[in-house]
Amino acid sequence: MRDWWRISTPIIITALLAFTSSAGVAFAQAGTPAPAADRPSQAKRIALFLAGGATGLALHESAHLVADAAFGAKPGLKKVDFHGIPFFAITHPSGLPPRKEFTISSAGFWMQHAENEWLLSPHRPLRDRGPFAKGVFTFNILTSVAYAGAAFAKTGPVERDTRGIAASSRVDERWIGALLLAPAALDAWRSFHPESKWAAWSSRGVKIGMVVLIVR
Ligand SMILES: [Zn+2]
Repeated sequence: MRDWWRISTPIIITALLAFTSSAGVAFAQAGTPAPAADRPSQAKRIALFLAGGATGLALHESAHLVADAAFGAKPGLKKVDFHGIPFFAITHPSGLPPRKEFTISSAGFWMQHAENEWLLSPHRPLRDRGPFAKGVFTFNILTSVAYAGAAFAKTGPVERDTRGIAASSRVDERWIGALLLAPAALDAWRSFHPESKWAAWSSRGVKIGMVVLIVR
């Protein structure tokens, strides 16, 4: 019998953190400058940005664990590797009914999608928020993009979220990659264009569509 494990630790976390600490800094610093006196130091802003990224990861994992608990699926830890980069995955038992498998595998992305809607809410645009919020948001976007890449190439550990979603919904994994990439791209656009209604509703539409796949 095949093991329907699921990967839950986002794929290239090491690379993500390296990326966020360099390229992300510019983004962390964007926004309305505060008066010089109460502006945190550059080091503090970077630390807050990285803490936001780590919180994004914790929220993604927590969502899987909540879904595991809701279905009484006992999670476990497993060492896996992605093209030579070792990391740990939180796994759940194989052989769950498809809708449970689908929910557990999707939960991390559902959580990210909800966070992004909150972070992009029009009354307080992301650019006016601090580096912590930008760190969470950047983690969410990069994680979706990394997973979409893995899904398009159908590569990476067998435990990856996109494979669990694809198998349980009987949809080609590349479509799952597209369903992740589209809102990530739209949300990145929205962070620079908070007034864009078409982008907001297109993104929400795809996110809802991904949840609706559960009826398949
Ligand atoms: Zn996950």
